[in-house]
Amino acid sequence: MAEHFTTADVARQLDDCTFCPKMCRHACPVSTTTGRESLIPQAKMDRLNKLVHDQEPWRPDTTESLWACTGCRHCTVYCDHDNEPGLVLLSGRAEANKRGAGHPALAGYGERFRARDQRLAADARERFGAEAFASTGTIGFWPGCDSLDKGTADVAAAQAVFERLGLGPVPLVDAGLACAGYPLLAAGLPDEFRWHAGKVATALRRFQTIVIGCSACRHAITALYQGEGISVGTNVVSIAEFLATHADKLPAPATKKRVYYHDPCYLARSAGVVEEPRRVLGQVADVREFAWSGVDAECCGGGGLLPKTMPSVADAMARRRLSELAAQGGGMVATACGTCALMLRRNAPEGVEVSDLATAVANLTDTPFTPPAAPADEP
Ligand code: SF4
Ligand code: SF4
Repeated sequence: MAEHFTTADVARQLDDCTFCPKMCRHACPVSTTTGRESLIPQAKMDRLNKLVHDQEPWRPDTTESLWACTGCRHCTVYCDHDNEPGLVLLSGRAEANKRGAGHPALAGYGERFRARDQRLAADARERFGAEAFASTGTIGFWPGCDSLDKGTADVAAAQAVFERLGLGPVPLVDAGLACAGYPLLAAGLPDEFRWHAGKVATALRRFQTIVIGCSACRHAITALYQGEGISVGTNVVSIAEFLATHADKLPAPATKKRVYYHDPCYLARSAGVVEEPRRVLGQVADVREFAWSGVDAECCGGGGLLPKTMPSVADAMARRRLSELAAQGGGMVATACGTCALMLRRNAPEGVEVSDLATAVANLTDTPFTPPAAPADEP
């Protein structure tokens, strides 16, 4: 049996789930979207239990279901044992890699992650200019990799909103890095995650407060780093929490537009950040709720590297999330995470407009911002 899985808590969770009458089956967005019984949380944990007890061989086909999880923690909400399939399955992924049974779509992922991270950091310097960065200070802004890749207008909007609130120019953290490393853990590469986390932590602790635009980065830095013995030692908050402390300074429009709020899993279920984004949005909009919201929100499909291992399922999850709004004839959705914004935007049906929280606030308060130009070598 693999040594990692003999730890009492992980072994207990695997046994609990194996013999569970599937109490959380309705909550898993992957099994619900695919309609595959083999992808409900109980079945995924049962499969991992069989693998670690050598009742199944470690092969890419037998480990496939370990990758069918976004880490959304919706199953945990319905678990009387507080089990965490989203975390335990990550251990299974690491073991699968060790045994040469990793996911084919993630071959060479560590190198690919590093190359993308360095490219995005370099592109950001070119787009925003060296003067937009600082390596130390009172407040630093960490947008996250998906915002620096596909959401640079959202980054510019956030900076404009910070200035509108009288916080002055809030510099981007000058780390030569774009991502806090959660995808490395999701890829089953804990050693590479630890190494990357150490570098990020060194850069972040030079600021008194770090404002984060990505829910997975916030979760990684405030929770997962601790699991690796890494302390950032500074105040780390999501952009929703940060703006909430200044929300009363935002001008309220005469007529408030109706806006639905999508809860990012790593903000609502992992960090309990539910009220803050609604306080911000409520200042400038008429906030409406999805049928599944707050700690019960459905995942957009962007976590756990699902967009790489099961891309069509990940996109279908985003469309499923927005189908409720599409059925009503459309409307506007705001969310406080760069990855959620990316997933929902690219899957938005006709009539549904998706906005990052900062961009929504900027637009609803007539706060001007200029999206940065693309680097010269980009089309
Ligand atoms: S996470 Fe809890 S509810 Fe879900 S299968 Fe495991 S023991 Fe059952
Ligand atoms: S963490 Fe989310 S995606 Fe993973 S098994 Fe649980 S409900 Fe499904």
